[in-house]
Amino acid sequence: MTDYEQRAPGCFIDGKRVHGTGPGVVVRSPWSGEDLLTLSSASREDVSQAVAVAQTVFTAWQATTAGERAEHLMNFAALLDEHADELAELQVRENGKLLKEMAGQAKLFGDHLRYYASLLRMPCGYVVEPPIGGMRVHTERVPLGVVAAITPWNSPLNLLLWKLGPALAVGNVVVIKPSEITPLSTLRLAELATQAGLPPGVVNVVTGAAGPGQYLVENRAVAKVAFTGSSAAGEQIARAAAIGLRRVSLELGGKSANVVFADADHEQAIRGTLAGIFGASGQTCMAGSRILVESRALPVFLERLVETADRMRVGDPFDDTTDMGPIASAAQLSKIETMVDAAVAAGATLRAGGCRAQVEQFPNGLYYRPTVLSDVTPDMPIFQEEVFGPVACVMPFDDEDEAISLANDTRFGLAAGVWTSDRARSDRMASQLRAGTVWVNNYRKVAYNVPFGGIGMSGVGRENGYQCLDSYTETKSVWVDQGLGIRDPFNPRAR
Ligand code: NAD
Repeated sequence: MTDYEQRAPGCFIDGKRVHGTGPGVVVRSPWSGEDLLTLSSASREDVSQAVAVAQTVFTAWQATTAGERAEHLMNFAALLDEHADELAELQVRENGKLLKEMAGQAKLFGDHLRYYASLLRMPCGYVVEPPIGGMRVHTERVPLGVVAAITPWNSPLNLLLWKLGPALAVGNVVVIKPSEITPLSTLRLAELATQAGLPPGVVNVVTGAAGPGQYLVENRAVAKVAFTGSSAAGEQIARAAAIGLRRVSLELGGKSANVVFADADHEQAIRGTLAGIFGASGQTCMAGSRILVESRALPVFLERLVETADRMRVGDPFDDTTDMGPIASAAQLSKIETMVDAAVAAGATLRAGGCRAQVEQFPNGLYYRPTVLSDVTPDMPIFQEEVFGPVACVMPFDDEDEAISLANDTRFGLAAGVWTSDRARSDRMASQLRAGTVWVNNYRKVAYNVPFGGIGMSGVGRENGYQCLDSYTETKSVWVDQGLGIRDPFNPRAR
C-alpha cells in the first residue's frame, strides 16, 4: 500500500467520509505519545467542493419549516445521547482531557441541540406600526447560508455544538474545520448528524492544519465564520472575512483574573481557584490564570494553593483518580515551558511545578506539573499573555480599587471570578470587572442557555443563549400596504 492508501479519509462531504487531497496529518495521543492514525487532509479544491455542496443543499434546507428543523435537531440530539460515551472517549484519546470531566460534558451534548430546537417553537419576528400611515411592517429571520465553523483542540465537540445548534436551527448549512490535533471526534459527530437523518451536505467537515481553515474563510460563498481559537488567528480571520464583508463571531483567548478577598470562604476559594486554573490542564480559554489575593490573606492562601498543587496526581486521563491529564501537543508543552522559564528569569518565584511530570506508565506522554508563580508583576509577559497551560500567577492587592485595576490591566476580557462574603462588594466588583462573564463565589461554569464571549482581544459576539440566533440570521423587514393606495409622488394633494 502507498502512504496515501494508508491514510484514513480526512473529510466528510455530502454525507460521506471522503479522502482529502491535501497532505497527510498524523493524529497523536498526547497522553500515551503514540500515533493514532494519519488522515488525508483537505486541499483548497476539497474545501471549495465542501462549500459548493453545502451551498447547493442550502436552498432545500432553508425551505424546511421550523418544526421540521426542530425535529431534525431532536433526532440528532437523541443519537448524541446514545453515543455520548463513545464521543467522550474519542475526544480524550485526541486531546487528553480527563474522561471524568469529558463524560459529564458529553451527557449534555444532546441538550445543546434540544435547547435550540425548543427556541424554534417560540415566536420569531415581530409586527411594527411605523410612523407612516397605511403601512404595517413585520420582520422575518432569514438564514445566512454557508457557515464556516472553525474550532480549537481544547474542547472541540462542546465548542462545535455551540455553533451547530443555532446555525442549523435557523436554516444555515455548515462546513466545519476542526483543529488538526482533534479531527476524529468531529468527523464522528458529523457522521452521526447524517445517521440521525440530517440531509447530506447540511453538515460537512474538512480537516488539516490552518491551511484549510484559511481556504474556507477566503471562500466568498461562506457567509459567516464562527471561530473559536487564538486571538492572533482571530485577527487574521477578521481581516480575511472583511473581503466581501462577511460576518464573523470570534471566541478568543483570555487572561482571566480570580480575585480573592480576605472575607471569602477560604476552602471554597481555594477549590474554585485551583479548578479554575488546573482544570483541563489549564487549557481553557477561561482559565483563571491570574489569582489576585487580598494581602492579609495571601500567606495562608498561597501556602494552601502550593500544597494542593504539589499533591495533585498528573497522569492517565482515563483513570478516575487522576487530577490533571496531559498537555495536548508537544508544541503547546514547549510554549508553556518557555513562558514559565522566561517568567522565572524575569524575577517571578517558582512555588510549585515548573517542570515536566514523569508518568511511569506513559514515558512518551506530554505531562507538566501544576505550576504556581508568585512575585509576578504586571509588566511581565506571564501576566499579560495567555499561557494556555496549568500555570497560576499569584499576586497580592490591598483594596478593591487595586484589585479592579490589576484585574483589568489586560488586553483580554473573557472572564473573571470574585470570592467574597460581602454581597455589596461582589455587586460592585461584577460591574467594574471588564469581562464577558463574571462568576461570584464560583468559577468556570458555562451553559448552552447563558451567553458567553469576550471583550477586547477575547473576541467579538456571544455564543449560547437565545440572542445568539441573531448572529446566524439576517433580519428582513417587510412593509405591507394596508390598502390606502399610493399617493402620486409628484402631486401630493391628489390621491
Ligand atoms: P488556533 O487559533 O491556533 O486554532 C484554532 C483553529 O483555527 C484550528 O482549527 C486552526 O487550524 C484554525 N486556524 C488557525 N489559523 C487560522 C487562520 N488564519 N484561518 C483560518 N483558520 C485558522 O487555536 P488553538 O491553539 O487550536 O486553540 C487554543 C486557543 O483557543 C486559545 O487561545 C484559547 O484561549 C482559544 N479558545 C477560546 C475559547 C472561547 O470560547 N473564547 C474557547 C476555547 C479555546
